[in-house]
Amino acid sequence: MQTQQKHPKVFSVELFPPKTPMGEENLAAALGPLAALGPAFFSVTFGAGGTTRSGTIETVVRTMIETGIETAPHLSCIEGTRESIGGFLDRYKDAGVRRIVALRGDLPSDMENPGVFSYATELIRFIREQTGDYFHIEVGCYPEFHPEAESATVDLAHFREKVEAGADSAMTQFFYNADAYFYFVDRVEHMGVDIPIVPGIMPIWNYPQVARFAAGCGAQIPLWLKKRMEAYDDESQRQLGIEFVTDLCQRLLDAGAPGLHFYALNRAEPTSTIWSNLGLPAAADRKRLQGLSSSSDLR
Ligand SMILES: Cc1cc2nc3c(=O)[nH]c(=O)nc-3n(C[C@H](O)[C@H](O)[C@H](O)COP(=O)(O)OP(=O)(O)OC[C@H]3O[C@@H](n4cnc5c(N)ncnc54)[C@H](O)[C@@H]3O)c2cc1C
Repeated sequence: MQTQQKHPKVFSVELFPPKTPMGEENLAAALGPLAALGPAFFSVTFGAGGTTRSGTIETVVRTMIETGIETAPHLSCIEGTRESIGGFLDRYKDAGVRRIVALRGDLPSDMENPGVFSYATELIRFIREQTGDYFHIEVGCYPEFHPEAESATVDLAHFREKVEAGADSAMTQFFYNADAYFYFVDRVEHMGVDIPIVPGIMPIWNYPQVARFAAGCGAQIPLWLKKRMEAYDDESQRQLGIEFVTDLCQRLLDAGAPGLHFYALNRAEPTSTIWSNLGLPAAADRKRLQGLSSSSDLR
């Protein structure tokens, strides 16, 4: 964890583009309280969980306008052409976006055309070729390894290729085992890669939903936690979820993780509660502290 400790800590929050009027209402209700935390940036998923791809740019622009906080679109290359991906890059530049989360994307079960790029590395090369250093490029990585990877070693080598292609920083898939993150970061450092690797944090609010996501992406839920969750009612699951995820975040930060990326799922309460449990300053506290330090500079 030596090189990770050198990076400034960055706290960010992930949203998804709503698909229904109810989804719109949920996002509208969550945006204000999440913005009040003062994340360094929001990110907005692209085509994940069946959401439309055009919804990403709308949600990015809306979030930037309503909150004044930097917002990064996710951009995946699966099923994309050079023209369609180039078109997204142009639109993001026009909208004032400076940060992109570049991914291969989840493989749809009904995929007809895999697209021109097979892996995120090729997308990153394309973005750099088309736009130089204009965008800060974030990429995904997998402390418990990508489910399709041939082996842990091969997956690490592919991660290094993404960094060599031009990734500036990485956010992990969610995990509930801090040791998996520590081991992953140690192996990455051993390969001489020193970009920030920010843990992706999935609050456990709706346990059955989280268990489904975990099964889909290969994140392991510790057996003791699974057993306890399965024996609890909704309210007790939420309490244990907040307690467990707060402890996980604290352990990661204490060990030198360069921030946290919260998968907020367009819901403010779990992320806000964990944020506050960790004693992270919210936007208003930061402004007050900045005001205090600038007034003491004057004296
Ligand atoms: C932070 C984060 C945000 C995400 N947001 C979204 C989203 O908005 N929309 C969405 O659809 N999905 C999203 N995902 C999920 C992601 O798209 C999937 O996990 C996808 O299966 C892999 O994407 P990747 O960019 O990590 O792929 P890659 O880095 O391309 O890796 C995919 C697999 O291919 C292997 N591989 C890489 N290069 C090569 C090569 N040259 N030869 C052979 N094998 C290779 C890797 O080892 C890995 O097993 C997100 C994931 C994370 C961690």
